[in-house]
Amino acid sequence: MDRLRIATAWLGGCSGCHMSFLDLDEFLIELAGKVDLVYSPVIDVKEYPEGVDVCLVEGAVCNRDNLEQLHKIRRRTKVLVSFGDCAVTGNVSAIRNQLGPGNAGNVLQCAYIDNAENNPRLPRGEGIVPELLERVRPLHEVVPVDAYLPGCPPSAERIKALLERVLAGLPLQLEGEQLKFG
Ligand code: SF4
Repeated sequence: MDRLRIATAWLGGCSGCHMSFLDLDEFLIELAGKVDLVYSPVIDVKEYPEGVDVCLVEGAVCNRDNLEQLHKIRRRTKVLVSFGDCAVTGNVSAIRNQLGPGNAGNVLQCAYIDNAENNPRLPRGEGIVPELLERVRPLHEVVPVDAYLPGCPPSAERIKALLERVLAGLPLQLEGEQLKFG
């Protein structure tokens, strides 16, 4: 039987969910013996590959890079897991939504101009600094999501429970319903 092709991705989040993933400790060794980790911030692969079986996606959709990356992940992945509260609800990443329309400009102005001690200027650069979206969105508002793993961050025990289900060949999606591991 082919080894499962697993990925993790990091959009608009703090990387805390990935820190929790690393807290799987010795289970990571067991996992490495059974699956291929084909894309993740913890390995050196630049391009999200085709034919991924399961991907855990951390973070909300905050900027144009996040948006393009999420659509690519969805096209190339069988089972997409919304990984952590930022992915599930927007959470901390979406606080700026409360500022209403124009919040992206206000946030940049506050961070890079009003509170800058040296060289105040907005970060710009085609292909270098991605444009902020006007509204931060959870993953399921952008693409279909197959399973939810809430928590800020989700505990290693609950990540393990999801992965054990994957390893056992059990579906993360039951009769069109999304599973919630929380
Ligand atoms: S859910 Fe919590 S730990 Fe995960 S990326 Fe968001 S803020 Fe960080």
